[in-house]
Amino acid sequence: MSTLTGQAGLWCFVLLCTALLVSFFVLTRHWDTFKKKWQKSEKSEKEQCAAQRELEYQLQLDQIILENTKEAVVITDADASILYINQAYTQITGYEPREIIGENPRVCKSGHHDQAFYESMWNSLLQKGKWSGEILDRRKNGEVYPKSLTIHAVYSKSGEIRNYIGIFTDITEKRKVEKQLKDLLFYDPLTNLPNRTLFEKLLDQSLLNSQFHDKPLGLLCVDLASFTDINNTLGYKAGDDLLIQVSKRIRSGVRETDTVSRSYSDQFMVLLSEVKLKDCPVLLSRRLLRALQQPFHIAGEKIFVDACIGISLYPEDGIDTQSLVKHAHTALNVARKRGPGNYQYFHTQMREDLVHRVTIEREMHHALEHKEFILYYQPKYALATGQMAGVEALMRWQHPQKGIISPAEFIPIAEESSLIRAIGEWGLKQACYQVKVWQDQGMDVLPMAVNLSAKQFQDKGLLPLVLESLEANKLKPEWLEIEITESILMENPEDAVRSLRELRKVGVQIAVDDFGTGYSSLAYLKKFPVNTLKIDQAFITDIVCDAHDKAIVSSILTMGQSLNLKVVAEGVETKEQMDLLKAMGCEEVQGYYLSKPLPPEGIAELLKKSN
Ligand code: C2E
Ligand code: CA
Ligand code: CA
Repeated sequence: MSTLTGQAGLWCFVLLCTALLVSFFVLTRHWDTFKKKWQKSEKSEKEQCAAQRELEYQLQLDQIILENTKEAVVITDADASILYINQAYTQITGYEPREIIGENPRVCKSGHHDQAFYESMWNSLLQKGKWSGEILDRRKNGEVYPKSLTIHAVYSKSGEIRNYIGIFTDITEKRKVEKQLKDLLFYDPLTNLPNRTLFEKLLDQSLLNSQFHDKPLGLLCVDLASFTDINNTLGYKAGDDLLIQVSKRIRSGVRETDTVSRSYSDQFMVLLSEVKLKDCPVLLSRRLLRALQQPFHIAGEKIFVDACIGISLYPEDGIDTQSLVKHAHTALNVARKRGPGNYQYFHTQMREDLVHRVTIEREMHHALEHKEFILYYQPKYALATGQMAGVEALMRWQHPQKGIISPAEFIPIAEESSLIRAIGEWGLKQACYQVKVWQDQGMDVLPMAVNLSAKQFQDKGLLPLVLESLEANKLKPEWLEIEITESILMENPEDAVRSLRELRKVGVQIAVDDFGTGYSSLAYLKKFPVNTLKIDQAFITDIVCDAHDKAIVSSILTMGQSLNLKVVAEGVETKEQMDLLKAMGCEEVQGYYLSKPLPPEGIAELLKKSN
């Protein structure tokens, strides 16, 4: 038994030694491989630690960035329950993390967006994983504010949404600046009223609305006549104050539903959106004019303002903004001519007049260049001798298509533009030249009377022009007679006296044309240094049968005699008129009875016949 035990022990010993030998052999054989593997596992553990540290550092960095960025960050889980907010979020919304974590961001909803808005946001998030846009939300204190928001969906490896990250900025300030810029673009900074750009946009919209509902609209164009004078005399500050006060009066003179705008300088537009009664624009115009007639108190002074109003209506006067504004302006021009405190509706006739005026004006430029203006001459006769006592130059327009056009048709249009200066200058020079031509032919047709328009009369260059025209033809000044209507003289009598004196000083004769129609007083007549009064045709036409006209002519003749002025009767068409005028003591007559205005050759023939 002990032998058996000893043998077994031996075998165990041998086996153990063999195993050890084999192990030693394997170990020595694969030592390098083992060594490398061991070293590698030691190294990757180190790398892992470093990466772990790097990750922690990165997270720390991210945390610092998240907490200090100006943009608010909110992170939710897949069910939109808030997990994290940064400091900026608290600053913008007023919510502390403890108040909002676990809540749904919809607690900040402002109620300003409809269901469709949120549906489209969620669709975009679910389909594209991202939504960005501007949204109105509510702060904790209840204030609604605009924000620029981007939401990203974050996915797990299996492709399911794990989180949503919302990043937003408060754009309240940006909106404020934008509004200020917009205000500058669309509002008049002085009166805070919509400017012309905005007014036209509002009118566009109102017109669309009116077209849809078949409702009329009214447009008033309010213009201050005396504003430039106030600016010039009291200064721009006073002018600004006046415009502010005027804007307030207009605003309070119309209804809440009406829109008032300052279109430019001293012009205001009012859009009447409710024109239920036909005369509503008239009632409002009257009310506005009455309000503006009351004195304004500016810079310690009482100031009175002259205003006029032009009215256009939709749809009668136009169906678009441009034509309604244009027609209100056209009506305003007519109101202005009628004088301060007037209002005027637009009429189709005005549009036709406007087209006519613009056409004539354009054609007159061409006519000047192409020498289409000519002068006719109408003689005046001395009643005592029956001799020609001078001629009056009367302009004609030889239009290539329309034939001879009367000055009554084109002179008033030329007077409204600056063209009258050029036309008048040509007329004066041509009349003087004609005197020279007749003289060279051995005829004395004197004096030569030339009509002057208001603009020419007020022109500083008148005297030099007169002197130049006389000089060019070697004419004596007394051979020229200037005719100025009584109404032009009475427009500004003081200035008229000065200009007339200058002309008289150089020896030019002066006749007051259309006398009796301009309401000049004897007091002024005494001051005007004139030579002749030309009784207007209106008093001559019925002089034989109308005692009233006869009395007026008689008093003019007496006035002329007492002031030592020559009196000429215009528009004498019959022998009876001429005989009566002669009996009444009138010196000279002019009219179709004796001669119509004639071309220069016609006058030459008349002279030859009388000799
Ligand atoms: P006016 O200066 O009062 O000229 C008189 C107008 O009466 C002229 O009209 C003349 O042809 C017309 N006339 C003369 N006798 C009679 C008559 O017996 N019966 C009638 N029914 N009419 C008579 P015309 O030539 O058509 O001139 C009209 C107006 O145009 C002138 O009125 C004047 O104010 C203006 N005008 C004419 N030529 C000129 C000009 O060269 N410069 C300016 N500024 N105005 C002018
Ligand atoms: Ca005349
Ligand atoms: Ca006349």
